[in-house]
Amino acid sequence: MQSGLVYDKRYLDHKTGKHPESPERVKEVVEYLRMKGMLNLLNVIKPRACTMEEALRVHTEVYLQHLKILCETETPLDIDTVVSKESFDVALLAAGGLLSAAESILYGEVDGGVFALVRPPGHHAERNKGMGFCLLNNPAILASFLIEEKHANKVLIVDWDLHHGNGTQEIFYDSPNVLYISTHDPNIYPGTGQIDEMGEGSGEGFNVNIPVPQGSDNDDYIRIFSEIVMPIALQYHPDFVIVSAGFDIHRSDPLGTMRVTQRGFKALASCCVGIASDCCSRRIVFELEGGYNPGALAHSVYAVFEAMDGGMADFYEAIEEVEQKKPDPLAPLMKTLKDKLSPYWDV
Ligand SMILES: [Zn+2]
Repeated sequence: MQSGLVYDKRYLDHKTGKHPESPERVKEVVEYLRMKGMLNLLNVIKPRACTMEEALRVHTEVYLQHLKILCETETPLDIDTVVSKESFDVALLAAGGLLSAAESILYGEVDGGVFALVRPPGHHAERNKGMGFCLLNNPAILASFLIEEKHANKVLIVDWDLHHGNGTQEIFYDSPNVLYISTHDPNIYPGTGQIDEMGEGSGEGFNVNIPVPQGSDNDDYIRIFSEIVMPIALQYHPDFVIVSAGFDIHRSDPLGTMRVTQRGFKALASCCVGIASDCCSRRIVFELEGGYNPGALAHSVYAVFEAMDGGMADFYEAIEEVEQKKPDPLAPLMKTLKDKLSPYWDV
């Protein structure tokens, strides 16, 4: 099975100065994949730029014009979100990288899944506002492309980044065509992501927020994916799976509050690959969100590629290992989640 990697040196041109979201992050991942002999096993896909028309499916014209001017003048969007002259074009290339990833899957050039190693990240960007290191909402631009151009009816976005993807939630809050499932620390930036934010109108029930207690480790995340994420995703039966893969839940992350390791990322990725295998011929794009320890990030992305060679069987093995360890410290949280979600999903 052939997996793909979307990467381009131009992703280094979004310059952020002394900032955790640095060009070194993706540079180190590529060097590590090369060193491990993984890079030449992959189909390396060159990204195209997202067109303005494609960006306008998600963002307002006013915001896009404003963002362009901020980049030209190197004016930060906010205290966290800095830009350089090249940032607008690089942001279009990041969103476009996800589109290229999906196109390579839909045209049959890869059959094992694709990892889009892009920056700047996307999930905090709202329709009318970039924030939290994010300029354009990359996963939302891909989901809307799949729905409007490629006749997808059901796109699943799994977001395991440490932070809640407020932008992705906002953009699809009233849509049943996108099921957004996020695991995150609810007590940090950006402050959204409570269980009760479940969507509205015909989108009610299609926004699933799972607040994860600080200090959670591989076993906790595997339980959450096994008991909540996987059953809901399989019931939804998506046409396409997008994973907002944030590696800031790694135990060595400088911004982190969780304790996940390479083993945990492999298990979570196996679950997502398994869902895509069962539902949609493995149409799955992982896209880079956070992860601010470049070394830990490189090991973790490598673990995702290892997972792309397997599938659900690997995740079942991980679940079995965890279930032998009792008791489950997250049992009360699971009960609350299941009570709240049971009107919409069989959990
Ligand atoms: Zn994050």
